[in-house]
Amino acid sequence: MSASVLFGDGTIAIQERPVPVPAADEVLVEVSTVGVCGSDMHHYNHRRNGDASNTTPVILGHEVGGRIADVGSTVDPARIGERVAVEPQRPCRVCEYCRSGAYNLCPNMKFFADPPVDGAFVQYLTIPADFAFAIPESVSDRAAALIEPLSVGIAAIQKAGVGVGASVLVAGGGPVGLLTAMVARAFGASTVMVTDRNLPRRERIAAHGFTAVDPSDSIEDLDVTAFVDATGSVSAIQAGVGSVRRGGSVVIVGAVETVPLPMARIASREITVTGTFRYANTWPIGIHLVASRAVELDDLVTHEFGLEQVEQSLQRDPGSLKRVVLPGVSHVEEPSLLARAQRAV
Ligand SMILES: [Zn+2]
Ligand SMILES: [Zn+2]
Repeated sequence: MSASVLFGDGTIAIQERPVPVPAADEVLVEVSTVGVCGSDMHHYNHRRNGDASNTTPVILGHEVGGRIADVGSTVDPARIGERVAVEPQRPCRVCEYCRSGAYNLCPNMKFFADPPVDGAFVQYLTIPADFAFAIPESVSDRAAALIEPLSVGIAAIQKAGVGVGASVLVAGGGPVGLLTAMVARAFGASTVMVTDRNLPRRERIAAHGFTAVDPSDSIEDLDVTAFVDATGSVSAIQAGVGSVRRGGSVVIVGAVETVPLPMARIASREITVTGTFRYANTWPIGIHLVASRAVELDDLVTHEFGLEQVEQSLQRDPGSLKRVVLPGVSHVEEPSLLARAQRAV
């Protein structure tokens, strides 16, 4: 099979690899769609800049939709042919975190595309059978791949305790921020606001039915029950904490910096400040949200690439929202779906 490999010197090339053989409790998945994540771009760009901590070759990609092509000896062979969304992690299942259900905190986790663990820019991969979730016909392959970033939003909104009638502020109108806002709405939030510095992104936020907020406006008096940060930026986190009402909550999704916080305000208002690390037990919820049309994932995809175009898919482009790679296709003539649609008119 073909695999798109990132080498230690920062180059990406197609390599022929043997099709993996599923272990007894695993399935073999023929990969149809892989979402490109900010973390993939980060790995690629850092290696290219020569400051990668790990220089062994690695395969990126961890947002996976596909079809079961084969099963291990203890898995029901009736699953062959099933369309699935893949949860891209292998917890150890025996540590105290795994046993408690918080397996995302497993210290022995093997996560896709977290070097040296290989990811999904490949034609076939294996995964434990219970982490390949069947999807109904109404859920597209693209949406199946995007259950992964949707899961980040589900974990954040669950952690924030968002329920019916909540008012939620999300910082960041990229894919994770937008998906978090969609989950907040699906969980019953009556007000969902999203901040972004970038005007085209604010227009996209509004087009999805959310209140788009310019972060340079004062957001201190928004008085929300929950604030979720999907930017990792100091100013966004500080402003967001200032917008939370008494007894409310702050959830940080993937911060990258040290952020000074107003502890007196947090104490006197009994604001809960916490973070999320990936997700646990979110795929069934994500699949339900998409199948019931509470969340629409397909229109987030702006570009499609073939397996030979992974390097192109990892270039930063503020005009794109979500990019996907189709490992069954070597080359897509016109990666931009918008340009393709306009050409067709
Ligand atoms: Zn991701
Ligand atoms: Zn564990």
